[in-house]
Amino acid sequence: MEQLTPHVYRLHIADTHAFHPGGTNIYFVGDPKREMVLVDSGEQDRKWTRQILKAYRELGRPRITAIVITHGHTDHIGGLDRVHAVIKAPVRCHPKLVDQLAAFLGTKKVVALRPRERIATGAGAVLQAWFTPGHAVDHVCYSLRSDGVVFTGDTILGSSTSTVQDLPRYMRSLATIQRLGPRTICPAHGKVVTATASWVNEYTSHRNLPERQVLEAVKAGVSDVDEMVKRIYPKNLKKKLRPAAANNVRQHLAKLKKEKRVTEVPARYTIPGLKRR
Ligand SMILES: [Zn+2]
Repeated sequence: MEQLTPHVYRLHIADTHAFHPGGTNIYFVGDPKREMVLVDSGEQDRKWTRQILKAYRELGRPRITAIVITHGHTDHIGGLDRVHAVIKAPVRCHPKLVDQLAAFLGTKKVVALRPRERIATGAGAVLQAWFTPGHAVDHVCYSLRSDGVVFTGDTILGSSTSTVQDLPRYMRSLATIQRLGPRTICPAHGKVVTATASWVNEYTSHRNLPERQVLEAVKAGVSDVDEMVKRIYPKNLKKKLRPAAANNVRQHLAKLKKEKRVTEVPARYTIPGLKRR
C-alpha cells in the first residue's frame, strides 16, 4: 500500500486484463486514525478480497463510513459481499446501480447517491460524487478537493484508453473531469496520473481523432464497420480488442448520424437467383 496524498492510500492489485493494462487500484480515503471511505471493492476473486482486507488491517482497521462504487462492472463490485461482511459500511452508488447491488447485499445496505453529493471521509476531507456516464451508464467519479485528486474509475485510466458505451455522454464526462482541474488523477486501472492536463487532453483528442478518421473513411466510400476498423486501427491490433474497436467506430457513427453528418442506408433485400429485367 502506498500513501499518495495526505488523505489517499492506494492498494495496487496486479491483474492481466487486456482492456486495462497496469492492474487495478483500490483506494482508502481519509485519516486512518479517524475515518475513511473505501473506493470500489474489486473482482470476485478471493485473492483480490484478501489483498483489500489485508490493506484495511495494515491501516489499523479504521472506521469506514462508506464504500463508494465507481460503476457496476464486475472488477469494481465483484468482491463487494465479502468486503462488506468485514467492513460493514453503507454502500453508495449511482441510482441506476442500486437495485443490482441491493439484490446482492440486501436493500438497507445500499444507498443511492445524489448528483454532486458530498461524503465526509473524516479529518475534514470531503469526497464529492460526479455522475459521469459514458464508459458505463452508472459511472460516478469522486473529487477530493483538499488533495487536488479525482478518482476517475474507468472513465480515465492511467495506462491506456477506456472503452465507451455512449460517446456523446462520455465526452461530456471528460469535460466534467477537465473542469474539476485535478492535480492527481487516481484511476481504477493503471498508473496514477500527475500530468493531468495533458493526459485529459490526450484522452479527448483520442476520441476526436477516430471521429475525423471515421468521417474520412465514409467520404472515401467505406461503408462497412469492419473495413473502417481495418483502415483506422493499427494492423497489429490484438484480436481480442477488435470488437471494442468496432464498437468504438459504431459509437462514432451513431454520434455522426445524430448530428446528421452521415446517413445510414437501410439494408436492401433481394430474392436469391432473381434476375432483374
Ligand atoms: Zn474496470
